[in-house]
Amino acid sequence: MALPVKRWFAIAFLASAIAISQRGASAADDWKIIKVSGSDYLSVDNISRFYGLPAGIAASGEKVEFDTVKNSLEFVSGSREVMINGARSWLCFPVIEHDGKYLVSRTDVAKTIEPLVRPYRVSNVGKVQTVVLDPGHGGYDRGQVSRFGYEKDFALDVARKLRPLLQAKGLRVIMTREGDYFVPLEVRAQIANAAHDSIFVSIHFNATNDDPNATGFEIFSFTPIGAPSTSDSAVAPSALSTQPGSTVDAQSMALSACIYHSLLGHLPEYDRGIKRARFVVLRLTKVPAVLIEGGFLTEQGECKLIAQKDWRAKLAHAISVGIESYRALGIKKQPPLLVADYRKQIKSSPTEFDVQDAELKEADTSLMELVGRSKFLPPQQSSTPRASSLESAPIVP
Ligand SMILES: [Zn+2]
Repeated sequence: MALPVKRWFAIAFLASAIAISQRGASAADDWKIIKVSGSDYLSVDNISRFYGLPAGIAASGEKVEFDTVKNSLEFVSGSREVMINGARSWLCFPVIEHDGKYLVSRTDVAKTIEPLVRPYRVSNVGKVQTVVLDPGHGGYDRGQVSRFGYEKDFALDVARKLRPLLQAKGLRVIMTREGDYFVPLEVRAQIANAAHDSIFVSIHFNATNDDPNATGFEIFSFTPIGAPSTSDSAVAPSALSTQPGSTVDAQSMALSACIYHSLLGHLPEYDRGIKRARFVVLRLTKVPAVLIEGGFLTEQGECKLIAQKDWRAKLAHAISVGIESYRALGIKKQPPLLVADYRKQIKSSPTEFDVQDAELKEADTSLMELVGRSKFLPPQQSSTPRASSLESAPIVP
C-alpha cells in the first residue's frame, strides 16, 4: 500500500492479516493504556496494529488532504481532525505527543474510531424498520436563506424525494412534518422514539456569516458523555449527564458513517466531516439519530446547486443508499461501502453539475409551488445573506 510519505513523518505499522483473523474475544488484551495527567490514552501504533490499518501522523498545522486512500487512519498532531477510511472525522480530544509517542484518547478509540472503522460490530446496529425523516425548520422558522429560497423548503423537498426511495427498499417512513409548519424539536424526537426499530434522519442546509466561501457536507451525531462537541473546545457541565441520545451514540456514529460515505461518494462536495453535537433532536432521540448538513446556502455555487431539484434528488438518492448501507450492517455484519467504493461504482457515469439559468428558474418555480410564492423573499431583497443568523453558532444546523 503506497502512502504519501512526504507529508507523513511517522508511519505506523500494518498488522498482518493473520494477526487480525486471530483476534477475537481477547481483543481488549491488545490495548496498552497509557495514563497522561490522569486520562487514558492509546498510542497510534497500538491503534494501527489493533485494527490492522496503516496509520500516519501529519504535522500540526499541515492540512490533511482529502484523498480516497481506503482503510487508513491519518491523524494530525495536536488536532482533533482525522481521516478515517477516506472521510474526514473529528475526534473528541486532540492527538497528543507524549514520550515520543502519539496518543489518542481512550474515549475516541471507543466512541469515534471503533464505530467508524468497525460499525458492523456495534451492538444492535442496522436494526431499522422505520426511518423518521425530519425536514429541518418549517413555518415561521425559515432556517437559513439563499436568494433561491429557504432552508425549510429545500429540506422538506429532499425528505419528500427520499421517502419513496426508502419505501421502495421496504422501509416504513414517517415524516416529522409534511408541510410548511413548525414542529417543536422535542416533538420531532418523540415521534422517532415512539416508532418501532426506528432511526432518525434530520435534513438541513448550512450557512455561515464568517466565510462566504465555506462549502461542503457535514453530518452530526450525539456527542459522547464527558466529551466536548466538535464546535466546542472544552467540556461543558451539561456534557456530564446521561441523555437519551447517549444510549445509542455508537449506533448513531455508525449511521453517520454510512450516510456520510455515501454522500461524499455520490456527490463531489467538500468533506467537512463526521462531527458531534448536542442538538436537541440528537440529545432527546433515543434511537440512532443523525443531522445532515447538505451544503451551504451562503456560498454562491452551492446555493445554486441546492436550488436545483435534480441536485436535491441526487442528495436524496445518496442518503437513501447510506441508510440502506446502515441496515445492511445488521444483516451482513461486514464493513460498509466507503467513499472510494462508491466513487468506483459511479465512475462509469460521471455526474454533471453545470448550472444553467433555465434550470435555476425551473427549480425556483417548483419550490414556490411547493409552499406558495408569498413565502419567498422577492429576489431584489434577498440577493445577500442576512447579516445575523437565526441560529447561534457560526456554522449552524
Ligand atoms: Zn437548519
